[in-house]
Amino acid sequence: MEYKNGCCSSDSCDIANKSIGCTVTQCEHHCKNENYCSLSKIEVVTHESNPTAIQCTDCSSFKLRS
Ligand code: SF4
Repeated sequence: MEYKNGCCSSDSCDIANKSIGCTVTQCEHHCKNENYCSLSKIEVVTHESNPTAIQCTDCSSFKLRS
């Protein structure tokens, strides 16, 4: 695996977005060696009708690393 700008060089992971911190290493978009997302934008959603806590929110841009 090659690394570029501190991030893995797979198709969806070229540059660590320092504005989106993330520790979900199982995600395809996670920058393996740094706790950042590689996407320029993510979508945060809720699976609750009335969210009241952190646990009620999700990153809908998550994609399981293959
Ligand atoms: S898409 Fe979401 S879960 Fe995946 S690395 Fe980016 S912020 Fe984390």
